[in-house]
Amino acid sequence: MQVHDLTLMLSLWIASLTGATLLFVISKMTQTITGTRVWSLAMLLLSCAYLSQLTMQNLEVQWRVLTFNTFLILGHSAWLIGTWQFVKRTPTRQKIVWLILPVLLISWLTATLIPERELRITLIGIWLIAVRCHYAWVLYKHTRQDRNEFLAARIAIGLVFLEVFFSVLYTLQGALGNLPQIGGAFNWVAGYTWLAALLGILAGAPILLLLSAGRFVKELEFAANHDLLTGLLNRRGLARHLNELLPLSKRKCDSLTVMMIDLDHFKRVNDLYGHHSGDRAIVCIAQVLQNQFRSADLLARWGGEEFCLVLFDMQPDMAVACANKLQSTFAQHSLQLGLGKTPLTISIGIACSREISQQGFETTQNQADSALYDAKHAGRNCVKVASMTLSLLEDTL
Ligand code: GH3
Ligand code: MG
Ligand code: MG
Repeated sequence: MQVHDLTLMLSLWIASLTGATLLFVISKMTQTITGTRVWSLAMLLLSCAYLSQLTMQNLEVQWRVLTFNTFLILGHSAWLIGTWQFVKRTPTRQKIVWLILPVLLISWLTATLIPERELRITLIGIWLIAVRCHYAWVLYKHTRQDRNEFLAARIAIGLVFLEVFFSVLYTLQGALGNLPQIGGAFNWVAGYTWLAALLGILAGAPILLLLSAGRFVKELEFAANHDLLTGLLNRRGLARHLNELLPLSKRKCDSLTVMMIDLDHFKRVNDLYGHHSGDRAIVCIAQVLQNQFRSADLLARWGGEEFCLVLFDMQPDMAVACANKLQSTFAQHSLQLGLGKTPLTISIGIACSREISQQGFETTQNQADSALYDAKHAGRNCVKVASMTLSLLEDTL
């Protein structure tokens, strides 16, 4: 198949412009995901490179080459920078300058002062191959958040290797002086290289789009299931985890314990020291809870200054001992918050059940809530066990 260079340039121009538009739109929608806007800029710069070949054919070859190479270099650099940003490894300004400036200088020198076509194609070719390989490596190393992302990145890497394969042939041909000017006679190496580049953009742009959208959905999911202040699960997140965990735990565990924990007189903390200090106290109890309990236990911010802890296979007497330890640990930590000389206190309600199911959890949570209410009525800063659980406790003794 012989496809004329300029037909491929036209296809590349349309493909990269479409890619730039799509990526720009998605970057507007997924503003917290970094890199997408730079990817869109990369596609735009590449589209300028291809457009220059279409519109500058009548100009002196030196200016056409210089314009094309400049946009090509800037486009591929932006593609790599976008990828670095996407994987949260934003490059320093110095790194960006080192990536772009030397090769731009080489491109300019070999097109104007020392017009050496073979040298220019070789050096820019090597740079391009290195940049594309580095892009593939960054994708390989840092895109493993889930199966979809992993798969999309692997397809992108496959395409890059196809591009690199032809780029190597292109560079070799160029180094040997066997390549005609773009728009000149047909050369199969050049033809297949541009075809691979077209495939890279046609498939690459939707893949980048999928990667951005995928991460955005993950962020939304995280935000929907977690509490912003403490990073703990929220009620919705807890319900979701329980949904997944309960059927499994039913087979493996004998009991379910729910602990409801509430800060005492928290309104006073806010009134006396301000809302910001109140927030610090909430973060402090969240950290103490996280440190004290096993990773298999489920911990959620139930609402305001109230936390819910779900423990599997923990006997009620052990749960009471843990709750007492939690109280003293939090009291110590709260002194470091600088909120007066008296420590902050918490009240805890505990309930336990042998029924490991959604229904069982709801009943036990209600009992723990009642026990917490009892603890508040008993003067706060204490641990109360639900009456149903007390009989269970007696059974085990
Ligand atoms: P009790 O000992 O009976 O639990 O009294 P309390 O003052 O702790 O309880 P109450 O439920 O009356 O007040 C809870 C307060 O917690 C009211 C609300 O302004 C505050 N609060 C809820 N969420 C937050 C938050 O995210 N940050 C801060 N700083 N305060 C919060
Ligand atoms: Mg309270
Ligand atoms: Mg409360």
